[in-house]
Amino acid sequence: MDGQTRCRRCGTCCRKGGPALHRADRSLVEGGAIPLKRLYTLRKGELAWENVRGGVVPLTEEIIKIKEADGKTACRFFDDAERGCAIYENRPLECRALKCWDTREIEQIYRRDRLSRRDLLETVPGLWDLVTSHETECGPDRVRALNDRDAGDRRTLARITAYDREMRRLVTERSGLDPEVLDFLLGRPLSRVIAGERSRPRFHVHDPGVGALKKPAALSGR
Ligand code: SF4
Repeated sequence: MDGQTRCRRCGTCCRKGGPALHRADRSLVEGGAIPLKRLYTLRKGELAWENVRGGVVPLTEEIIKIKEADGKTACRFFDDAERGCAIYENRPLECRALKCWDTREIEQIYRRDRLSRRDLLETVPGLWDLVTSHETECGPDRVRALNDRDAGDRRTLARITAYDREMRRLVTERSGLDPEVLDFLLGRPLSRVIAGERSRPRFHVHDPGVGALKKPAALSGR
């Protein structure tokens, strides 16, 4: 962007969606600056639109993102009236790295050291077992094979969709967890993942602003 050297607080990047988190952001989650109920997980194997490469790709690793505001694309922490970040002092790595006038820093970090549920939950008794059993039963690759128009198995798909729904109900009922945490813990409800596979994914893989930026020369044509 010609002549620009600092943020003009236009809000464009934050209106495009929340950032993915990296291991550098772990303390923000564990310290409560970014509550779990404000996050969701895009699981390994789910289809997502990647701005930088410009296409729909199955994720090769899971991504934890900040949720969007209800019914909007903007990051949940974007304050529209103030055109600012409600957690500015605690904003995640991608938000600190993103400079719309110079994308080099965000390009360097955005695929590296992404935070995962394992990082946050592996030592929490019961929760990690819950996540891994859910992943075995409802993994996105399995769902895609069952959802295949020609070779799919709709009866099995319906059974594991019911399993996903029931597990969510039981977790909140028996543990007292806030239902809003489920999108982080188990990913988005399977019914939504399946619906997304049948249409174009509306969510973006990565940071809030790359889609608005010039395609990096190094990635052109990929
Ligand atoms: S967390 Fe990042 S994307 Fe969200 S409002 Fe703050 S700076 Fe914008």
